[in-house]
Amino acid sequence: MEINPNAPSCPHDGSALQFQDGLWHCAQCATHYRLQGLCDTCGKELEKLNACGATNWFCNHCNTLKSKSVVQYRLVNAA
Ligand SMILES: [Zn+2]
Ligand SMILES: [Zn+2]
Repeated sequence: MEINPNAPSCPHDGSALQFQDGLWHCAQCATHYRLQGLCDTCGKELEKLNACGATNWFCNHCNTLKSKSVVQYRLVNAA
């Protein structure tokens, strides 16, 4: 399923998640999720860089800045 990084939906019930304290919260599941970006080249987790209101993703493994269009997103349970 395609994840919209600006408005992801719950992987369990598909309801809209609310952004709270850096995490995405599902009211239905009472669960917090963390949005991860994965490298399209090596599959490792990307580092999220926030600059000037824009979000960029950087792969420490490939030492490359990734454009949003190639980042693969994943929601993980933040407990
Ligand atoms: Zn949910
Ligand atoms: Zn990489």
